[in-house]
Amino acid sequence: MLRVAVVGSGPSGVYAAQALVQQREVPGVRVDVLDRLPCPYGLVRYGVAPDHEKIKSLQGSLRTVLEDERIRFLGNVEVGGDRLTTRRLLELYHAVVYCVGAARDRTLGIPGEELAGVRSATEFVSWYSAHPDTAADDFDLAGVRSAVVIGAGNVAVDVTRILARAVTDLRPTDMPEPALGVLAGSGLREVAMVARRGPSQGRFTTKELRELGTLPGVDTVVRAGELALDPAYADPAAAAALPAVNRRNVEVLRDWTAHRPREGARRITLRFFLRPVEVLGGPDGRVSGVRFERTAPDGHGGVSGTGAYEDLGAELVLRSVGYQGVALPGLPFDVARGTVPHAAGRVLRDGRVSRGEYVAGWIKRGPTGVIGTNRPCAKETASSLLQDAGTLAGRELPGDPLDALRAAGLSPVLWPGWLAIETAESSLGLSLGRRSVKIPDWPGLLAAAATAE
Ligand code: NAP
Repeated sequence: MLRVAVVGSGPSGVYAAQALVQQREVPGVRVDVLDRLPCPYGLVRYGVAPDHEKIKSLQGSLRTVLEDERIRFLGNVEVGGDRLTTRRLLELYHAVVYCVGAARDRTLGIPGEELAGVRSATEFVSWYSAHPDTAADDFDLAGVRSAVVIGAGNVAVDVTRILARAVTDLRPTDMPEPALGVLAGSGLREVAMVARRGPSQGRFTTKELRELGTLPGVDTVVRAGELALDPAYADPAAAAALPAVNRRNVEVLRDWTAHRPREGARRITLRFFLRPVEVLGGPDGRVSGVRFERTAPDGHGGVSGTGAYEDLGAELVLRSVGYQGVALPGLPFDVARGTVPHAAGRVLRDGRVSRGEYVAGWIKRGPTGVIGTNRPCAKETASSLLQDAGTLAGRELPGDPLDALRAAGLSPVLWPGWLAIETAESSLGLSLGRRSVKIPDWPGLLAAAATAE
């Protein structure tokens, strides 16, 4: 038998586990999927926006994998801490696949970024997704009339939409009750989503962009003057070479130039060619706006500064400029890339393959791609591991790792514990006259899981 630990139960971890058991070359593979949280599914549960129910429903297929009899879910198990080092984990399993994602947000590195009211989109997402590491009162939108979201990726689109959207549209989701209350109580009228490059370099996907134009009671506004294509794409032949997604994005944005803001509607404004240079503070020490330098296309897809500046007022600033991998104690880490060095998923230590250690997902390739991108990525890693199986499986293991984890003082939440959390979340939803509503804190999650013991 080949016993493998997969660390992380987000899409990359689940796809890795699936690729390891659903194959014929190496019989008898058993996989434990470990997660720091008592809940599975990683960013599908705690990152995908609650109103994106179709993407959320992916949890159904991830669940089917985790219910495979050759796979065991062990939640509430932190790897890399005192109780369970990476070295110890490798003693307990023939191989370990790290699928720990990219946990941190990137910063802007501009003056004023530390002012009250400047937050990362990642924090905002964690808050409205009821992540148990985030307090229910972490965001207070009282007095916020205008927000600026910096960045032009899908996360920026998500947080812009959640800020602008009517709370009645969010009630059918699993968003925690306190977050709904805070959003309902805010006097937010305008959200500006600001990109440092042009419309053809937006990182958002067209479906997500288009959705911004369909929100009831929300006007979506762009300025025709900011929709100029980079000269590199100005002639029609070169424009045709733009990736289809960027071409479609520009078409959507051009359609929106005809929109005229209506009296009383909330407004999303998409701005381009503005790079943030300073966050401005008010007399109360809180953020009052952002100073941007106007940029111009450099003819190669990039931009350069023009020396002209524009200030946008805001009582809330969310920076949404991408995620960043975090070093896991005991694993090598490439600081510049924010990833673990690897060759086809095999972890490299000082350029040499580290026996039995693998990576998949964002910690392997960086925080890019949609959920489906993780499937081929995990498959490549699993196939490397399976090729190595002959040399890995020879080692005798100390017994069932679950016993060793408990002996180390850990209290893993097994699958029935997770199912009990799901049941408790359905009951909570029922009591609020809503569908399933997430439990937002550690004690609540662990207490619910304990009812299954
Ligand atoms: P992202 O796609 O990498 O976008 C980051 C954005 O931040 C870019 O517009 C980038 O501009 C901008 N940026 C970076 N540094 C900046 C700076 N110093 N000043 C101003 N702007 C700056 O990251 P993301 O939005 O966090 O998304 C991460 C991944 O998750 C992506 O692959 C995304 O597609 C995926 N995701 C998908 C969905 C979905 O499918 N619905 C939802 C959420 C996330 P430049 O391009 O100029 O660098």
